[in-house]
Amino acid sequence: MKRAILLLPVLAGVFVLPVFGGTPDVKIVSVPRSAALAEAAVRLDLDLLAEIEGRVLIAASPSDLRKLAECGLQIVDESVLFAPSSPPASSVYSFSPIGAYHTYRELADDLAALQIQYPDLARVVTIGTSLENRPILALKVSDNPGLDEDEPAVLFLGCHHAREWISVEVPFLFGRRLLEQYASDPAVRRLVDEAEIWIVPMVNPDGHDYSVRVYRYWRKNRRAGEGGLFGVDLNRNYGKAWGCDDEGSSPDPASDVYRGPASFSEPETRAVRDLIVSRRFGALISFHSYSQLLLYPWGYTTLPALQESLLKSLGTRLTDLMRAVNGRDYVCAQAGAALYLTNGDTTDWAYAATGMPAYTIELPPLDILGGGFFNREEDIDPIFQENLPAMLALVDWAIAHPDPEPDPADPPRRSGRKKNPPGPGIIRR
Ligand SMILES: [Zn+2]
Repeated sequence: MKRAILLLPVLAGVFVLPVFGGTPDVKIVSVPRSAALAEAAVRLDLDLLAEIEGRVLIAASPSDLRKLAECGLQIVDESVLFAPSSPPASSVYSFSPIGAYHTYRELADDLAALQIQYPDLARVVTIGTSLENRPILALKVSDNPGLDEDEPAVLFLGCHHAREWISVEVPFLFGRRLLEQYASDPAVRRLVDEAEIWIVPMVNPDGHDYSVRVYRYWRKNRRAGEGGLFGVDLNRNYGKAWGCDDEGSSPDPASDVYRGPASFSEPETRAVRDLIVSRRFGALISFHSYSQLLLYPWGYTTLPALQESLLKSLGTRLTDLMRAVNGRDYVCAQAGAALYLTNGDTTDWAYAATGMPAYTIELPPLDILGGGFFNREEDIDPIFQENLPAMLALVDWAIAHPDPEPDPADPPRRSGRKKNPPGPGIIRR
């Protein structure tokens, strides 16, 4: 039986801060919520963690601290709130340290068990190896899973960002559901028979492990850089418009949106790239959290993609299906116009390279008041259930629309329209 999870950040509207160790180069500080902070947050790529009683908590590197001070913001050291209560757990657990959420090892075990239980429908495939030598695991669900059949393929990705634990669970549960329902549900059987469904629940196993064992808010992978700086933001490391400007990603290794020294510099993004170019993928969802959005390309510009109308109409169909389950709203929008500009993200590259509809789903909650990166254990199933019909519908759509054409359009990097600066509630997701 799994232990209860430690994390329940919101109780009756009051934040109870989880207790975690920081990294030596990152300090948890708070500054007053203000327009100056909103402006600085965007310009400096700050890692905002939470807003509590008019103060915004930030995971700040030494250079962030210098820049905050230069902005004249009043900085309070809040590190004591995050002091570790006990030594970090060993990487070999005698129980699940994160409750119903999967550690990497638990995920590997559960995927292997599915292959054993459903040998005619499931294969666990290693699509690459992380920096710390963890196999990056995919679950392939199809009839004849040991064969490369000439069927449309659909890809579901989770956990580019280490701290977004719910994004592991939704694609994993989807794979398990397909296998469990194959024998009894003709609609599921048709999808599995006619498509190859690929599920990579944990693109960033090293970062996830670090988030579990050491620092809950870790976002990037665990690339070691000079001066003790770690990590590349994997969702800024893909090859479309990579590094086209410094607004949506950063050249600074200390930044939480550091894009790496080159596109596809990281083994984790290369693994996803190589999988996509090796198959006839016709649709993709990359799960993140949080904010209840379904985002489509482009993210690097506010200008529309050539296939904007398809991306929007199909995306709206998916969000309608999601809303119908629990009544929870997910807003469908172009990424660059809705959230904040990014460059080098998964969906821009996948759409540009293949022409397939490629969506980022930002899972619940809606905002930091709902728990931010934390979801309670009992939230996992409702969140999965409301995403399930959209995932099924996307596979169905890909079967009906095989062989998308790459989008040849390469719009200018930026429209003339200036984005409204987001408020302090905007946290990198
Ligand atoms: Zn994310």
